[in-house]
Amino acid sequence: MIDLRSDTVTRPTRAMLEAMMSAPTGDDVYGDDPTVNALQHEAAEMAGKEAALFLPTGTQANLVALLSHCQRGEEYITGQLAHNYLYEAGGAAVLGSIQPQPIDAAPDGTLPLDAVAAKIKADDVHFARTRLLSLENTHNGKVLPREYLREARRFTQEHNLALHVDGARIFNAVVEYGCELSEVARECDSFTICLSKGLGAPVGSLLLGSRELIHRALRWRKMTGGGMRQAGILAAAGRYALRHHVERLREDHDNAAWLASTLREAGADVRRQDTNMLFVRVEAQDVGELGDYMKQRGILINAAPVTRLVTHLDVERAQLEQVVQHWQHFLNR
Ligand SMILES: *Cc1c(COP(=O)(O)O)cnc(C)c1O
Repeated sequence: MIDLRSDTVTRPTRAMLEAMMSAPTGDDVYGDDPTVNALQHEAAEMAGKEAALFLPTGTQANLVALLSHCQRGEEYITGQLAHNYLYEAGGAAVLGSIQPQPIDAAPDGTLPLDAVAAKIKADDVHFARTRLLSLENTHNGKVLPREYLREARRFTQEHNLALHVDGARIFNAVVEYGCELSEVARECDSFTICLSKGLGAPVGSLLLGSRELIHRALRWRKMTGGGMRQAGILAAAGRYALRHHVERLREDHDNAAWLASTLREAGADVRRQDTNMLFVRVEAQDVGELGDYMKQRGILINAAPVTRLVTHLDVERAQLEQVVQHWQHFLNR
């Protein structure tokens, strides 16, 4: 199957599996797993942060970050469409008694800082205490402008807020900036990385930040059930991904750009393409039929009025050529 639903669908490569099979392991709840420790150390080093923590999922990494930054009755400002507001089952509110204050993102994926400022609560018994600003980079494929990251850093310092970045796809942004991870990471207090998306690991995320924050995060990870034992098998996949699958994200971006322009030529209504994602408008009455049509031809998509297609290391250009052919046949049927 050619699976364009998400970059989470990637399978470990043979070389990654070999790295997993030969990884030394120990009990990570005792802090004894050498491969987990190596991954955390290497990631922190790469990011120029004091410490890193390996977690099972990006959702848990965001939750643990929010729990580590905010106390009960405090508040984080985030986007209406941010993963840690919309797509994490309300975890921070349910499990942390942390109030989300969502605001609309601008078309470029940033949270306008004047809109953020307007939502910062005064120190008054009526209000929750505003503690944290949470950004997402990339956001629906969009790379936040680097100048904005610097401004957000200054802004949060001035307003005494912590700054967290949900960096599930931060490396897609780093590849576009053409800079080092550390140059982006220094503009925030904490951030997450998903190893299981475009980087191609089967499982795992990282939370990075100060030693003190990660120390608090360790207790929350245990409490939320994320303390794993011989997790080195999974961490080995993450280490392999950080070494071998970062630079190649550029191929995914090139493939997405190629697919966007070629689908357009074939008559599809491609609305936009950013990094490894493109969004195609589909006539409401065609949505169900398109999904079935593609599936019968070995192509998996999440058909919707705006269909998101995602490129990743398990789809090659030749397969995308097939996608375009079938899409064109569908439009001309
Ligand atoms: C995928 C994703 C996450 C978390 O993903 P998991 O599926 O829980 O690993 C968090 N934030 C963003 C922006 C994501 O795309």
